[in-house]
Amino acid sequence: MAFELRELLGKAADIQVVSESEWFQFVPSNPWVAVNWRTADQVRVHLPKTFAKLKIGFNASGAKRIDPAANTVHLGDGGQLNYDYLVIATGPKLAFDEIEGLGPQANTNSMLRRWVREPSEKWEAFCKDPGPMVVGAVQGASCYGPAYEYAMLAVTELRRRKIRDRVPITFVTPEPYIGHLGLGGVGDTKGLLESTMRDRDIKWITNAKIDRITPEGVEATEVNEDGSPKKAHKLPSKYTMFIPAFRGVDCLKGEDGKWIEGLTNPRGFVLADKHQRNPKYPNIFSVGVCVAIPPYEATPLAVGMPKTGYMIESMVTATAHNIGDLVAGKAPTHVPTWNAVCLADFGDSGVAFIALPQIPPRNVNWSGRGYWVHLAKIGFEKYFLNKVRNGSSEPGYERFLMKTIGVERLKRTARGCLETA
Ligand SMILES: Cc1cc2nc3c(=O)[nH]c(=O)nc-3n(C[C@H](O)[C@H](O)[C@H](O)COP(=O)(O)OP(=O)(O)OC[C@H]3O[C@@H](n4cnc5c(N)ncnc54)[C@H](O)[C@@H]3O)c2cc1C
Repeated sequence: MAFELRELLGKAADIQVVSESEWFQFVPSNPWVAVNWRTADQVRVHLPKTFAKLKIGFNASGAKRIDPAANTVHLGDGGQLNYDYLVIATGPKLAFDEIEGLGPQANTNSMLRRWVREPSEKWEAFCKDPGPMVVGAVQGASCYGPAYEYAMLAVTELRRRKIRDRVPITFVTPEPYIGHLGLGGVGDTKGLLESTMRDRDIKWITNAKIDRITPEGVEATEVNEDGSPKKAHKLPSKYTMFIPAFRGVDCLKGEDGKWIEGLTNPRGFVLADKHQRNPKYPNIFSVGVCVAIPPYEATPLAVGMPKTGYMIESMVTATAHNIGDLVAGKAPTHVPTWNAVCLADFGDSGVAFIALPQIPPRNVNWSGRGYWVHLAKIGFEKYFLNKVRNGSSEPGYERFLMKTIGVERLKRTARGCLETA
């Protein structure tokens, strides 16, 4: 967001980034870190040098509280920043506390950001003394791809270590069917992921609500179409990996400890219109996982809508242009496409999908499988980390290449002009 604002607004703009850490971490590599195919250091970039080069102010003490009425961000180091425009890009708070025994402080592992070192150590211990494994996502989760990716990668790695025969794996998910992904599926993700799981001897339980997780295993209830209990499951597990549900981060709460009225929805996700702008505080924009987006469809259990990488980048580009509009004294007009282009790596193959736009009905609804996905994801990781190191958001050649396959960040009308309302 900061790189793109610098490029668009030029040197005159005073841009400040507030982060909780001096490091950018490429989150899509976390499943590789969790099976020790990468170290945490290989998938992160130290930010101060890049920001200094671009003359972007940087504070890594975190935002403690936002005061939108006073246009102020209170910082973790006791200081404060005043702003003309604020972009919130704080991602999720991981709601481990909503299920008994969930989370790395309790009985499960997590491959989400700051816990990333921990699962790899536990993984080594597990491989020395293997046993049953349960992987999946909990009710209310809004990020399913990495759970599938992790289950398939684990199989690839266990086969390489020749211990797969000692690890029965069950995939447990609130999705109504395998490959729903919170998106009603994309292309044939249902068929592709089901057949991959059959190939890899992974059993699955869908429409599953996690009741509790103990050191011995997972207790879950499979539900009927109307949400009523269908079957209770007690699954022994020596290694458990679950994607938790998300909520908004604490700095979006007021001094009274409640979500700021008009800024967020009741779970703390930031409200935004089609220009990524908050309706109550029109100088606040939001991008990424922190944005409030309703579920795609009603399902027996809560299944949230994922916010995928390219979709987030389209939010970023639209926001940069809309702030540019405001600075120029115009009303914001740019609308993000919310297109999704995803690569899920299984180590020796993978599934890719293109959903234009991410939310159905779609103009393009394609999925495919092959070894090329594994190679493409490795290439993309290196490319993206390099872009962050160089302080670049979307180089011209990337824009050109993506456009040739029909993928763009800003929405166009049916006649091909940029949407202007
Ligand atoms: C394991 C995993 C794999 C994924 N793989 C893919 C993939 O392959 N393809 C894809 O399209 N999508 C993928 N996603 C989805 C999505 O692209 C990522 O979740 C992405 O990282 C979301 O970006 P974000 O900036 O919204 O949130 P985050 O990456 O979570 O970044 C939010 C940042 O805000 C910071 N922050 C939070 N609170 C504060 C505060 N108070 N003050 C200052 N800073 C704060 C956090 O420390 C963090 O650095 C994946 C998600 C996960 C979890």
